[in-house]
Amino acid sequence: MTTIGSRIRSLKEELPSGIRLVAVSKFHPADDIRAAYDAGQRIFGENRVQELVEKQALLPPDTEWHFIGSLQRNKVKFIVPFIACIHSLDSERLMIEIEKQAAQIDRVIPCLIELHVAQEESKSGFLPDECRRFLREGVWRNCPHIRISGVMGMATFTSDETQIRKEFRLLKSLFEEFKNDFFAEDPSFKELSMGMSDDYRIAAEEGSTMLRIGSLIFGPRI
Ligand SMILES: *Cc1c(COP(=O)(O)O)cnc(C)c1O
Repeated sequence: MTTIGSRIRSLKEELPSGIRLVAVSKFHPADDIRAAYDAGQRIFGENRVQELVEKQALLPPDTEWHFIGSLQRNKVKFIVPFIACIHSLDSERLMIEIEKQAAQIDRVIPCLIELHVAQEESKSGFLPDECRRFLREGVWRNCPHIRISGVMGMATFTSDETQIRKEFRLLKSLFEEFKNDFFAEDPSFKELSMGMSDDYRIAAEEGSTMLRIGSLIFGPRI
């Protein structure tokens, strides 16, 4: 068993069933992804289109690819044919482009709305009020090739656990609010994508359904 394989196994043993693991393989070679695949991992997260397209060609067809980074509209067309979930829906313009490309090949793409809850300016995503307005305006209702399946967010990069927990609680409460106000009749709206290598235990305690873990599995990104 490889190191990567054993890290996958021990994470899976630790996590409650019902939480899915997205192995974030960005910057790591296809061989490392294969080692994780051979240990039973099927969901992988990438944040660059070109890198993702190259790796996707090298892994078995039942590998599930999730896009987790900031997505440029002119690159949407390259991932739409195979992507299983886009975690980073952060504007109406991006949504319209995904809808257009997905309609052309008649695929429905699960997407998570990215929310900005951290203290850092650099992080992307809708602010809570922007997201309320986006949902109220309802352009998404005319996008039959997009399935809004939940929300994604990142906590502030800090060692202050209280701060991190507070941000995950905010994400969870926004998820509940949107579920109630806009998706009460829609069972697809169920994912709360939060938690990375340094904060996944807190995220799991606060109700995450998808953890996005990179360096803990694959080692540091060089
Ligand atoms: C890189 C990245 C991760 C994984 O980060 P680690 O700290 O290596 O676990 C998770 N989510 C997003 C959006 C990322 O860009």
